[in-house]
Amino acid sequence: MRIEAVAGDITTEHVDAIVNAANSSLLGGGGVDGAIHAAAGPRLLEACRQLRRTQLPTGLPVGHAVATPGFDLPARWVIHTVGPNRHAGQTDPMRLASCFTASLDVATSVGARTVAFPAVSAGVYGWDVREVARVAVGAVRDWAAGHDEPGVDLVRFVLFSEAALGAFAEALEA
Ligand code: ADP
Repeated sequence: MRIEAVAGDITTEHVDAIVNAANSSLLGGGGVDGAIHAAAGPRLLEACRQLRRTQLPTGLPVGHAVATPGFDLPARWVIHTVGPNRHAGQTDPMRLASCFTASLDVATSVGARTVAFPAVSAGVYGWDVREVARVAVGAVRDWAAGHDEPGVDLVRFVLFSEAALGAFAEALEA
């Protein structure tokens, strides 16, 4: 499995699935979540509302992941995950790692072979992007090592700032 880091806007990625740093409500937010909803169109919010009405009445827990279609996005799927919120005292790196591994499990279950991730929790949720990069790269590598034939061929971290790109490039070199 190839793992890479690039600068860019995740909403324009031509991959099978992009991962959204959502909040537990799944009903939209700022940052990358707002950008993904804007680019995917209103059917994405409707799909999220449908999830809330059915399988996730109390929302998506931290560290879990769920897929919807990508609608107007180039990506076929959006995999929504909820990062830990450092401002709410959620400082356990395992919960952040779980966002990446759970998203890859969901990607596998929908048959997505190429997956783009943002720097989950490195924005409003207040984690240092260097820690996010270390945890993310470690989690993806561990996930790949634990699967003999991973259904995912490519993981691309798509970073919105030079600082974030630098942090992920460093983590990938380690
Ligand atoms: P969280 O609430 O999990 O911290 P945010 O959306 O606030 O999520 O931020 C997560 C990361 O996503 C931040 O590093 C932010 O700069 C980045 N980001 C924001 N918009 C985009 C985008 N369009 N593409 C890729 N990354 C983005």
